[in-house]
Amino acid sequence: MATKIVWMDGELINWDDATVHVTSLGLHYGLGFFEGIRCHSTPAGPAIFRLTDHLRRLRRSAAIYGVKLPYPIEDLAVACRSVVAANHLSDCYLRPLVFMGEGGNPFATAFRTAIIASESGPLAGSPAGAGARAQISSFQRFGANSMPPTAKACGQYLNSYLAQAEALRAGCDEAILLNAKGLVADGWAHNVFVVVDEAVVTPPVSAGALPGITRQTIMTLAAEDGLAVREQDLARSDLYLADECFLTGTSVGVVPVLSVDGRPIGVGEPGPVTARLIERLSDVMHGMVDAHKDWRESVA
Ligand code: PMP
Repeated sequence: MATKIVWMDGELINWDDATVHVTSLGLHYGLGFFEGIRCHSTPAGPAIFRLTDHLRRLRRSAAIYGVKLPYPIEDLAVACRSVVAANHLSDCYLRPLVFMGEGGNPFATAFRTAIIASESGPLAGSPAGAGARAQISSFQRFGANSMPPTAKACGQYLNSYLAQAEALRAGCDEAILLNAKGLVADGWAHNVFVVVDEAVVTPPVSAGALPGITRQTIMTLAAEDGLAVREQDLARSDLYLADECFLTGTSVGVVPVLSVDGRPIGVGEPGPVTARLIERLSDVMHGMVDAHKDWRESVA
């Protein structure tokens, strides 16, 4: 995981110096906002996938909590590029993190900013490329009047943690969470899709899904491929009966779901639509096609 250089509060500093004091309130109360972003090698050099869209979401996550980011997103974009370049990385994972610093009063303490680049990224879910066995979590996705699910805020991930720890203990790879109405909301760190009669369907953000960047990318690519794409509420039985099911997220791209609650989805193998979308996404991210140039934000 360790690289040489971290960007912190406006400077590139050594990995070992990128530390915080135990009185940092971000640590105590989960007061922080973060992103997970991927950089890929492309024929035109390393490119960060949808960097600006990720940083816009970071700004929105903070704004939901009434917090203004310590830096404009244009500066954070430069910082992301600089930390990739300073570590001589190409294919890597970026973790911008805005967290509350040292203080006594969480309503009057400044936020700090760090950007970490690493070769691998998060390791808790399905290995890339492999299909996943998913389980519906006994933990519910929080509602918009508890903690707004559209924010990618640090403390909110305790809900994901409970769900995914339960799934791993049960021998599954991925947790899927339902909302208070019993409808599919989201994965613990992925959005959920099904393929039914050649249509690609995902729950609306209002069901409690994070507005995923990969989700939006896949909806665009599927529509370009001539597939019908719909946002629609899904019950767990819609997952059981789907022709195909897959999860999307920055850490792993598209993960085929082979079973939900032990029930095979379709024939229990990655389906043709899922396979096609995995290929399309990889081509676009790695610049193997000309389309969507604006999504590949060059490091240089
Ligand atoms: N849902 C949750 C709860 C997540 O944490 C993530 C990861 N950011 C996603 C969905 C997928 O979002 P993205 O495609 O932007 O990584």
